[in-house]
Amino acid sequence: SLTGKDLHLAFGDNKVLQGVDIQVDAGTTTTVIGPSGSGKSTLLRVLNRLHEPQQGDILIDGRSVLGDNPDELRRRIGMVFQQFNLFPHKTVAQNVALAPQKLRGLSKDEAYALALEQLDAVGLKHKADVRPSTLSGGQQQRVAIARALAMRPQIMFFDEATSALDPELVKGVLSLMAELSKEGMTMVVVTHEMGYARDVSDNVLFMDEGKVVETGTPEKLFNAAESERLQTFLSQVL
Ligand code: ATP
Ligand code: MG
Repeated sequence: SLTGKDLHLAFGDNKVLQGVDIQVDAGTTTTVIGPSGSGKSTLLRVLNRLHEPQQGDILIDGRSVLGDNPDELRRRIGMVFQQFNLFPHKTVAQNVALAPQKLRGLSKDEAYALALEQLDAVGLKHKADVRPSTLSGGQQQRVAIARALAMRPQIMFFDEATSALDPELVKGVLSLMAELSKEGMTMVVVTHEMGYARDVSDNVLFMDEGKVVETGTPEKLFNAAESERLQTFLSQVL
């Protein structure tokens, strides 16, 4: 499980996280929703220590990780962003094989075999030896997901993974994410896709102005929102 407790972060006098609590049990999917600028991306970056929280704690399986080397935590968390950030001069398989080879100590052949296996899992084994630029945006995002999974992360973070995609490509990436979720991957998903949040999450967190305003099951948040802020937000996005 991943726990964030009373997380605070300010950039100058901009208080971006003001005491955020999040609990992600192993095998569950938590989606984070909320208006632009509410601190969703910052929360993910604090949870994998790309930013150090100025107050609060981060625990994995109940143990604080703030004293550890941050690289250790980052290796346990796979990240998928809006921009795929694939290396353009490498093949698809090389993109997936690179980190396992460098960070998990796999040989070149082992890493290539792992890359093929991982690409197969996202339906792109046949694209292993081409450059990323020859793929559609949706395919490139599935490669980015394969690349993250090849590190065998304990947890996956997705930050608006489908926001940059053409509408007709969104579905393929969302169904891959839903599949991962169903297979029992532990996931934290920042998304504007309310349908996905409703169907796939175990828990939903609604953030506004650096705080968790409301949290609970998708049934509760989408059908019986308590706070006016969430009601307003949903009326704008649904
Ligand atoms: P969106 O839905 O638009 O992606 P968000 O909820 O992910 O929004 P964040 O990106 O977390 O919002 O930003 C929250 C606030 O933190 C914003 O006011 C933003 O300007 C500020 N912020 C984020 N990163 C930095 C940074 N590195 N330096 C200074 N301010 C930052
Ligand atoms: Mg964001």
